[in-house]
Order: sequence, then C-alpha cells, then structure tokens
Amino acid sequence: MKIFELTAREIREKIRKKEISPREIISSYLERIEAIEPKIRAYITVASETAIEMAESLEERLMKGEDVGILAGIPIAIKDNICTKNMRTTCASRILENFFPPYDATVVNLLKKAGAIIIGKTNMDEFAMGSSTENSAFFPTRNPYDLERVPGGSSGGSAAAVAAREAPLALGSDTGGSIRQPASFCGIVGFKPTYGRVSRYGLVAFASSLDQIGPLTTNVEDCILLFYVIGRYDPLDSTSAPLPTPSLEEMLIPEAKDLRIGLVEELFGEGIEKEVREGVLNAVRYFEEMGASLEWVSLPHLSYALPCYYIIAPSEASSNLARYDGVKYGLRVDAEGVIPMYMETRDKGFGPEVKRRIMLGTYALSAGYYDAYYLKALKVRSLIKRDFDRAFEKFDILISPTSPIPPFKIGEKIDDPLKMYMADICTIPINLAALPALSIPAGLDPQGLPIGLQMIAKPFEETTLLRAALAYEKAHPFLPLKPSL
Ligand code: GLN
Repeated sequence: MKIFELTAREIREKIRKKEISPREIISSYLERIEAIEPKIRAYITVASETAIEMAESLEERLMKGEDVGILAGIPIAIKDNICTKNMRTTCASRILENFFPPYDATVVNLLKKAGAIIIGKTNMDEFAMGSSTENSAFFPTRNPYDLERVPGGSSGGSAAAVAAREAPLALGSDTGGSIRQPASFCGIVGFKPTYGRVSRYGLVAFASSLDQIGPLTTNVEDCILLFYVIGRYDPLDSTSAPLPTPSLEEMLIPEAKDLRIGLVEELFGEGIEKEVREGVLNAVRYFEEMGASLEWVSLPHLSYALPCYYIIAPSEASSNLARYDGVKYGLRVDAEGVIPMYMETRDKGFGPEVKRRIMLGTYALSAGYYDAYYLKALKVRSLIKRDFDRAFEKFDILISPTSPIPPFKIGEKIDDPLKMYMADICTIPINLAALPALSIPAGLDPQGLPIGLQMIAKPFEETTLLRAALAYEKAHPFLPLKPSL
C-alpha cells in the first residue's frame, strides 16, 4: 500500500512507531498531486516548499523525542477562504488573487500546534457562493468518480482532493451545504459542526450567521480526529461557544443501538431523484440492524428554507463584501476619482454570481423592502428552527439525503441559478437552524456515482452524531469508498 492511500489514523500510528517519517509522507502526497492534478485540479496553491520545511522541522523534533501533537506529520488541504499567514488566500476571486494574509485563522493555528502540515489551498466557488466549484474565477475542479462531472461546491476542491487521495484531511466551510454537498458528490465524509463550535476567526465571511468551518475526510475516525483539534472555544470569535471540546475517547466509541431516528418526510419527496431516495432508504437499514428505531417525521416549514436562505445569505453577503473597495484589500483598478475607482474595482474583481448575490442582498435590505423581505425571512427562520426543536423532542438523530441529485455534468446548471440553488434544499435548513450535520456515503447509484446520507443532531450533540456515524460506517460493507482513478 502506498503512503497516500493510508488514512490519517494509520499515518498517525506509523509515525508513532517510527515506521515512516514526515518527509516520506509529504513526498508521497506531493508525487500523488503531481500525477493526478492535471485531471482533477483540486488545488489553487500547492505549498510544496513550506510543506517540506514543516516536515523537516517536525522530523528533528521527533528525533529529539518531543511531543509533536496529535496530527503530527499529517498533511491537510485548506479551503482557499481560510486565512493562512503569508500563504496566498484568494477565495477563488480575482479581487483577492494576490492577497497574502498577515495572520493565520484560529483553525490553522490549532492545526499547526497539533503538528499537521498544510499541503495546499483548495479551489472553491468564488467567495463560497455556489454548488459546483464552477464559480471559481480560475478553473473548475473535476469529480474523481467522473471527470465530466462537478465535485459539488463550494468546497469542491477540498472534497475532490480528499476523494482522489491528494490529501488525507481537508477543511471546508459550510454556509448552506458547502461541506456536506461536495462530500456527498465525492463519496467522502463531510461534517458541519454546530454553529459556534468551530472558530470563524480568519474565515473570510460570506454570511456570518450561517458560516461554519468543518472537516472533509475519507472516513469517520479521521473526521473525529480533525474535529477534536478544531472544535475549540475561541475568544477571538464573539459567536464562539464557551463550551469544553467533546472527549476524543468518547467520540471514538461506535454506538447506534437504541437511537431514535427520524426520517425527514419533506426531504424524501418531491424534487428528490429516485436513485437518491432509494440509495438512502436502502442504507438506513444498517441503523435498524444495529438496533436503532426508524420513523417518519414531518417538518412542515422546510419548504420555505430555500427562499428564506436566499434572502438572509445574500443580505449578509452584501454587507460583508462591502469591504472590497480597492482601498483596504486586494485588487485596485485605477480610475478618475474615488467612486469610479470603487466601481471599476468591483466590476473587474467580482464574478457574475457574486454580483448577483450583492444585488439581491442590497435590494432585500433597502429601506422600504427590509420588513417585507429580510425581517420576514428572519421570522421564517425561527419557524424552521422550531420544527427541528419539536422533532428533537422525539428523536436523537434525523436523516435525509444530503443532495437531491447525484453529481451533475460540468456546464449543466451554470446558466440557471435557480436549478443550481436547488442542489442545496436538503442542507440549507440545517444552517438556518444552526445544527450539526454530517454527510456520509450511502453507496453508489446505478451509474457508479456516489450518493450521500445526511445525519442531523441537536445543537452541540456532536458526540451522539459522530458515534452513530462511526457505527454506521463499520456496519456498511462498502465503506470507505475509493474512486478508480
Ligand atoms: N450553495 C449554497 C450557496 O451558493 C451554499 C454555499 C455554501 O455553503 N457556502 O449559497
């Protein structure tokens, strides 16, 4: 077995036993990247030099017998909207094409302290707006299961890199599904923790009340390991929850017996493709076999989640993106006078989807429309949250498909924003309700494309969620999946 085929946990054990060195690990991944990147294009930046330097210094410390952290020597790919000190962070946008942050995001700090090695920055939809990674200003990423298809988005680069074994671990961000939907499309595990569990300090803001950073991995154990490292209270983020990090040992105990599981009626019906519905319903029997109970549950307000999200997210985005004016960050296009300079910079710097969101949001927040749109959307958001609260009085875990459709062809939806937005109908409600949720493969459809199953838990009940996912993965004979590249 090649090093790049190992899981993070296996790499960790081999490092402990001194069977492999950080240098060997990095070399193996860099070779893999060189061989496979021309096909996949998951990375915007491959940080070969700094990765080798980090591996060398780790190796010295290991030889001295120092404690080098629980992710020592394990490479990780980081979505390009998470700030890395002196390492280019573009958000896949022309406006930040040459932006080198002067500081590390809190999650990056935690990873470095844990000994992880940043191997590169991954492609994404511009400013995380999209579901296919086609909105990247640079190039699209391809799905490792079918190179003609999208890897999902917006964390499509992170998902494709992990699925193609170009990194054992990756970080993504999830505002309406951007970790879980690409994980589903690429046949891997993607986890959005509870809002407030992982610090957003240093994450370039899209919609601040919805954004959350989380892991993308090939298997649940690696997901737990990575979540354990990043799931920490951070005084630098005012929305960070002052709670202790869940115990690693507890999270690693597989447990699904006696779980009360609700299948979300609204997310198995209209708009969900047949092979997805059948794939997920077929996979939930593993929970039943382990002694969990399954029952249908209705959340009547879910049908309003998409319109509600497309008022709230663009409103917050229009405000967050006001800072890109050619003065403080990134690109400046000179013109006669300051207002024309702002206009030229934003016109040349932002792509069409980002402009659409800024216009939608500015409209929804403008005087005279604020009550009719933004305020109304906030009220609907509370109703959706209340539906979940009620369901969780009776159930421990809720299950639905992650995406209503299997991975689609590159170009298929790019000219129809509404069709693209529909790709997130199952994931968006979870961000609106601020809940933790995970996507795990249900299996492959008849065409050989991955189908994802979404598991949702109560706020801050990540332990219950991850233990159930671990049990499911162990019971499922075909997991983890691997594409034949
Ligand atoms: N696809 C959704 C959007 O375009 C969600 C994106 C995300 O989670 N960042 O807004």
